[in-house]
Amino acid sequence: MTRAFNFSAGPAALPAEVLSQAAEEMLDWHGAGMGVMEMSHRGREFMSILAQAQADLRELLAVPDNYRILFMQGGALAENAIIPMNLLGGERAGERRTADYVVTGSWSVKSQKEARKYCDVNIAASTEADKFTRLPKIDEWQLSKDPAYVHICTNETIHGVEYFWTPDLAAAGVPNAPLVADVSSHILSRPMDVSKFGVMYGGAQKNIGPSGLTLVIVRDDLLGRSLPVTPSAFDWKIVAENDSMFNTPPTYAIYIAGLVFQWLKRQGGLAAMEAQNKAKAELLYGYLDGSDFYRTSVAKDCRSRMNVPFFLHDDALNETFLAGARERGLLQLKGHKSVGGMRASIYNAMPLAGVEALVDYLREFERSHG
Ligand SMILES: *Cc1c(COP(=O)(O)O)cnc(C)c1O
Repeated sequence: MTRAFNFSAGPAALPAEVLSQAAEEMLDWHGAGMGVMEMSHRGREFMSILAQAQADLRELLAVPDNYRILFMQGGALAENAIIPMNLLGGERAGERRTADYVVTGSWSVKSQKEARKYCDVNIAASTEADKFTRLPKIDEWQLSKDPAYVHICTNETIHGVEYFWTPDLAAAGVPNAPLVADVSSHILSRPMDVSKFGVMYGGAQKNIGPSGLTLVIVRDDLLGRSLPVTPSAFDWKIVAENDSMFNTPPTYAIYIAGLVFQWLKRQGGLAAMEAQNKAKAELLYGYLDGSDFYRTSVAKDCRSRMNVPFFLHDDALNETFLAGARERGLLQLKGHKSVGGMRASIYNAMPLAGVEALVDYLREFERSHG
């Protein structure tokens, strides 16, 4: 068996240790006589898996007590609708509300588009004119007077733009608006101050576990503001009251996510992951910056540590580059079709050795084709 270095943006590589453990436990989990996929979600065994996963995640991210961790389904794209449905009702149901969106790449474009079905949308800032290669500073944002919430995407997986600061909405004049963040593709890559957000959400398949699991971390005072039309299974308050068991949760995905959380703790937690992710990103960007053969397009202060889009100076070489990469066991480097070029996604599960192998290949390809 060979494990290649997999640079997929998502579903993405998982730690080999986690997959080996899951394989060992596939037929018989801890002497239960059955595998996790076959267990009742309400049985003692699975309840312990769920509780452990929640506790480990709470510890890793230092999630404060007044925040609920919800394991849901539907992915981040479903949350684009679930968020307005959950935040536009309550005492102010019936009022036409405005939600503010900061648009910094493909994913936040989709978020604001979906929200328009439920409310008025104010685009507080957009970097589309700059082809999503930078982040707008908060003093460029034109927030509405009384937004129901302010939405950002803290790591744009396709454009490779990442926030390394957290917007302070009180200082920006909207102290009552919760900050809502799509954190799909960089959650758990470094410590984050959860208390600065009202809601954080993301699909699991980038940096947490298998697709099918959606994570929502929500401050408890935001529960109970849903519109009456909200499906019960997507109503955060109902999901929270039922401890993510209102309906059958994605049990196997939760189990794998739980193994990833334990793996992260063994690595030393999120501060250790941040150090490693920094080292990986610096190695790759450092090489790209020093070369005339390759180029990157994102402003230095917001270059994603997780998703690194880059371009060969000559697009005609793209297919040759990708074929050579595949031969060396460097997989899924093709860029997203909307951006072109290449993209290396280097999430937690990508070891430094994988980035070193990629840089070796970049150097070699430059030598032979430069
Ligand atoms: C992958 C991704 C999504 C889409 O998630 P789904 O699980 O496919 O709905 C949304 N936002 C970001 C930032 C992503 O990386």
